[in-house]
Amino acid sequence: MRRIFKQAMLVLFLLSGSTYAWNDTGHKVVSRIAWEYMTPQTRAKVIALLMSAPSDADLANLLATDARPQPVREREFFLRASTWADMMRDGKFSARREKYHQSPWHYINFFWESAPDGTPRDRADMKAEPENIVVRLQLLQSMLADASQEQSQRAIALAWVLHLVGDIHQPLHNSARVTATEPEGDRGGNLFTLDTTGARVRNLHSFWDGILNLTFNQKPVESDEAFINRIAQSIVVHHPQAKMQSRLKPGEFAAWAREGDASAKSAVYPSWLRRYEMPPEKYRKRAYRVAEPALALAGYRLAEMLNRLFAS
Ligand SMILES: [Zn+2]
Repeated sequence: MRRIFKQAMLVLFLLSGSTYAWNDTGHKVVSRIAWEYMTPQTRAKVIALLMSAPSDADLANLLATDARPQPVREREFFLRASTWADMMRDGKFSARREKYHQSPWHYINFFWESAPDGTPRDRADMKAEPENIVVRLQLLQSMLADASQEQSQRAIALAWVLHLVGDIHQPLHNSARVTATEPEGDRGGNLFTLDTTGARVRNLHSFWDGILNLTFNQKPVESDEAFINRIAQSIVVHHPQAKMQSRLKPGEFAAWAREGDASAKSAVYPSWLRRYEMPPEKYRKRAYRVAEPALALAGYRLAEMLNRLFAS
C-alpha cells in the first residue's frame, strides 16, 4: 500500500510542472541546516552584507517586507539567497544574466571511466577546466576574507558561496564519466537520459538534483518553510553535527569535490541502471543514502566557513 502511494506521489511529482521550485529544495535545506549552526553575530553580518548587493543583482529584494517577524524574514532571505546563482540563469532578464550568470562556476569535471572489469579509474589524460567550482570557492573565500573589497562585490561573493557549497556536495557536480557514447564525459550525468517525454527528471543529473523532492512529499497544508524545516531536521537527526566534526575539512574545497567524485564512481552508476527509463525505487533509496550525509556535511561546512569568515 505504501509503495503504491509512493509511486502515485512520484507520478504526481513528475506531472506537477513548475509549481514548485525544483532545484531550490536542496540549496534551501543546506542553508537551513547552516543557519542553525551559525552564531547570532554571523547571522547578523551575513544578512547585512547580502543587503548591500547592487540593485541590478535583484539579491537584496529577496528579503520579504511583509508583517512577519524580522528574524523569520531574515532566515527566509538567507535560504533564498542560496538559490540566487540559479535565478541568474533566467534568459528573460538578459542583461542580468549576462552580468551575473557563470555556468562553469557550478561544477568541476573529474573525468573517469570504468575498466573492463567494472572498476572505476581516472582519465589522467583529461584535465578539468581551469575555471571550476573548486578554484572559484577559493577565490570567493579570499574575497570575503578581505574587508577592503567593495561591500557590494562581497555581497555577490557571499551569495555565490551559499550556492556553491551546496553544489559541490552533489556528487554529479564533480564527475564526468567517459564511455564509448560519451567520449568527452557525460557532463555530470546530463547526457545519461532517463526520460524523453518532457518530465522534470530528464536525466541522471536532474534525478540527483531533485532527490529531496523524490524522497519527501510536501503536504498540501504544509508551507514551504515547514517543508524545508522538516527535511533539514530529518537530515540533522540522522547525521548529527557532533558526529561529523572530524569530517569538516575547513577550506579544503578540492577534498570536498573528491568526496563527490568518489560517490559518483561508487554509487551513481550501478550496472543495472538503465537509460530511457525512470530508475527503480531501490535506486532512489541508494541515491538518498549518499545524498543525505552529503547534505548534512554541506550545511555544517557552510556554517563553519561563515562563522570563521565573519568572526569579530
Ligand atoms: Zn548550481
